[in-house]
Amino acid sequence: RKVLEQQQALELHAKSLERTVQERTRELVEANAAKDDFIAMASHELKTPLSSLKGMTQLLHRRLIRANSPEVPSLVSMENSIRRIEVLVNDLLNISSLETGMFDLYCQQCDFVELTRSLVEEYMVGTNPRPIIHLQLPSDPIIVNIDVERMGQVVLNLLSNARKYSPAGSIITVSLVHREHDYCILVNDTGVGIPAEMMEHIFDRFYRVPGIEVQTGSSVGFGLGLYISRQIVEHHGGRIEVESKLNRGSTFSIVLPLLVEPKSSDSDISLSS
Ligand code: ADP
Repeated sequence: RKVLEQQQALELHAKSLERTVQERTRELVEANAAKDDFIAMASHELKTPLSSLKGMTQLLHRRLIRANSPEVPSLVSMENSIRRIEVLVNDLLNISSLETGMFDLYCQQCDFVELTRSLVEEYMVGTNPRPIIHLQLPSDPIIVNIDVERMGQVVLNLLSNARKYSPAGSIITVSLVHREHDYCILVNDTGVGIPAEMMEHIFDRFYRVPGIEVQTGSSVGFGLGLYISRQIVEHHGGRIEVESKLNRGSTFSIVLPLLVEPKSSDSDISLSS
């Protein structure tokens, strides 16, 4: 009889534990949904005032230049700060569309060789001081069906990281390889590298290798770029990988199938062509 009583007490205890776990899970799911709503709303609300601020500083910039004003450098630093906030707001918007399953791909046909060339040029022109980038491209075009905007975002993010986590003046190498069933873009740097035990985390949301320094003039990030990049690449049916040696450098590679069949997931994926 004693054993039976003990068994009943244990069953009651197990039931109460199960209820507690269910309650806590529900609370966590609700808190997570509230956090996603907040991120979506806050980043959306920030976008409008930010673009008017950007427009006004551009106008002021032109006026100050015309007037040969000594205030131009202050305005340039203001514009840089606005650009940094803009990157964060866009990252947060990307995150919330990923979390809410509203992440759309608008694919179109393009030549990936030309796209890589123009992205590297765009990056070099917009970065001060100009980075040194060696470009190794195949002579024939690689015609693919991708979301040019989003894939461009991935390549620019890898370029910006390669520069950010390397000493000033070091060389970044971008190569493109065309294989039978897929193509691969590699971004190599000779920078600080990534400690082996941290490699599995760098694609996590908000993860940054602790204590890592960024190159002077680069802004400290929020640990969102690689998370978003991986999502974009995977939505294209590809994968993103990294090889790295501490204090020697890193190579990030994106491998994409030649016939792009975007991953079907919870998210809506619309193809414009
Ligand atoms: P962040 O905005 O912090 O750069 P990312 O998601 O792009 O965020 O990168 C996550 C972390 O991975 C970075 O904080 C950095 O520690 C590490 N990392 C990314 N790219 C490189 C690189 N090329 N070399 C060394 N470390 C890198």
